[in-house]
Amino acid sequence: MGEIIDGKKVSEELLGEIKLKVEAAEVKYGKKPALTVILVGDNPASKVYVGSKEKKALEIGFNSTVVRLSAETTAEELSAKIKELNENDSVDAILLQLPLPKGLNGDEFVGKISPEKDVDGFHPQNLGKLMTNTNPSAVACTPLGVIKLLEKYDVEVEGKNCVVVGRSNIVGKPLAQLLLNLNGTVIMAHSKTKNLPEVTRQADILISAVGRKNLITKDMVKQGAVVVDVGILKDENGKLFGDVDFENVKEVASLITPVPGGVGPMTIACLMSNTLDLFLKRQEARAGAAGAAK
Ligand code: NAD
Repeated sequence: MGEIIDGKKVSEELLGEIKLKVEAAEVKYGKKPALTVILVGDNPASKVYVGSKEKKALEIGFNSTVVRLSAETTAEELSAKIKELNENDSVDAILLQLPLPKGLNGDEFVGKISPEKDVDGFHPQNLGKLMTNTNPSAVACTPLGVIKLLEKYDVEVEGKNCVVVGRSNIVGKPLAQLLLNLNGTVIMAHSKTKNLPEVTRQADILISAVGRKNLITKDMVKQGAVVVDVGILKDENGKLFGDVDFENVKEVASLITPVPGGVGPMTIACLMSNTLDLFLKRQEARAGAAGAAK
């Protein structure tokens, strides 16, 4: 029977550490990290996500602002708002909540955020640096959360067969790249993959990020594999579940994440961790520039 990875506990520990660092930073720099989230339109799920990000940021001691723009916002207005936030020295981190309303292309506007303030790590410059393993300003929060969970549970990635199911730009691709940077042997599977069970059975570390109930069943998992379920779905009664048939797969896995309480809480904790990192990098860069000017 596999050990259950407690993402809630790990995320609370991480948030506790961040809170202490924020207090120390406030003493050292006389200011707090500032996160600004841009929410365009009325997507109900986005409103909920943005609300919980704002609440967590305030709890942890950040300055947190939500810029709410109407669904009728034009491309010019959104560009102007992003430019204003890029130039606003009191903003450390900018998150553009996706998806955007019809007519506004998310990738285009993410590309307008200053890479140094790109808290989601979705800017092409940061994605390029992730690919070349050359210190991106930030790495996408959900993939980063998965890596932090593996680290916490002492899962060695180097030399392991890692299978990532799902190839989205926000989860699957950055996660596969992080595993590769850690010297895993990485296979990416997706909707066009032939014979998925044969592929997943090769995994020492199996990560599913699809959004389909019971996609990963017991027969698809090697005995002793580490199984991470990124998927989040809701049934008609509002009950949450993931991609993995948890009850049966836990009999063969050595470690397994539940849904809820696995990867989900890590995503928001990593958003806070990324905000703090961006703030600290900006403060250090400023101190460096001031030192050089002397
Ligand atoms: P997406 O829809 O952008 O991508 C899904 C991927 O799954 C695609 O690459 C597709 O090729 C692949 N896929 C679809 N059907 C498949 C099949 N039958 N077999 C193999 N691959 C298949 O989704 P996303 O944004 O990457 O999110 C994936 C899941 O993760 C969703 O359930 C989402 O809610 C969840 N999610 C969770 C968190 C979190 O914090 N835990 C964060 C982001 C996304």
